[in-house]
Amino acid sequence: MTRQRTLTGYRPTGKLHLGHWFGNLQNMLALQEEYDAFYFVADWHAMTSMWADTTEIRRFTEEQVLDWIAAGLDPAKCTIYRQSDVPEVAELAMYFTMVTPMSWLERVPSYKEQREQITDRDLGNVGFFLYPLLQAADITIVRADLVPVGEDQLPHLELTREIVRRFNTAFPSADGKGYLVEPKGLTPKEGARVPGTDGRKMSKSYGNAIFLDDSPEEITAKVMSMITDPARKLKSDPGDPSICPLHAIHKLVSSDTADIAGWDACCRSAECGCVAHKRKLIEDLIAYLAPFQERRAALAMRPGYAWEVLSEGAARARPVIRGVVDTVRALVKIDE
Ligand code: SF4
Repeated sequence: MTRQRTLTGYRPTGKLHLGHWFGNLQNMLALQEEYDAFYFVADWHAMTSMWADTTEIRRFTEEQVLDWIAAGLDPAKCTIYRQSDVPEVAELAMYFTMVTPMSWLERVPSYKEQREQITDRDLGNVGFFLYPLLQAADITIVRADLVPVGEDQLPHLELTREIVRRFNTAFPSADGKGYLVEPKGLTPKEGARVPGTDGRKMSKSYGNAIFLDDSPEEITAKVMSMITDPARKLKSDPGDPSICPLHAIHKLVSSDTADIAGWDACCRSAECGCVAHKRKLIEDLIAYLAPFQERRAALAMRPGYAWEVLSEGAARARPVIRGVVDTVRALVKIDE
């Protein structure tokens, strides 16, 4: 029986953090067991914001692959490849530029939001504007059925679906069903939204991330500086754990439900203070990340391994991708 196909990609812009871990990485791990899974390192996407200095992209690409494998992705079960190793995706994106109205890209919420929030880099380039369109090509070029995404990526996925519908209408297949596949999104489980140390969504760009390879000292410094319930000024004030970013992270990290319930209750009754809760989170977080960090350290001792994985992955992805682009070329009648 042919397995359904799934795809997702990460921009190699640095280390993975807890937002990635509890976001769609858990979905990626589960999907590699049941789906024909394609996971790619989006180095061209990284260039849209790192074009002024691309020197780090290769190193970040390598680290991305090792982080994924340390997290549990298995190159024998899923296809791990690099976006720029399959340049056919640029060709498909080119066809999409023809059928996509500019207004569709202008209304993508993350475009406006990131241009406003990220001020230390020039995002005024066409590549950044076309980012969601290239993403649509990444997804459709393997005819993915399911795409694990964060909540904030859902508008991008909806845009992909709209582009696919538009393409399929403009260039219908012989059976009239439309050749390209409209992908469905798979968002992280409820409660998996990870706040950063300042309470905003965890993001490297915001400088509020706890990274998977943070040392005990770094974890301690970050957690001790974390925002808690902002209305709780004194230990004698009852707190509200439901709005506390620290509690949200603790619930994700700890499997000890009795302990979590205990912190919830003693916060509400003002019987415990935030410093004590921070100390417990530090202890639990260090223990939680230790197995990942041990696997990651072992992989770091294998120079060239990440590039072997990417090379084998590209060799597996290429025939699939070439086949889709050849069919698209026939549909748009570029060779007739
Ligand atoms: S006691 Fe814990 S849950 Fe309550 S506000 Fe402080 S850190 Fe948050």
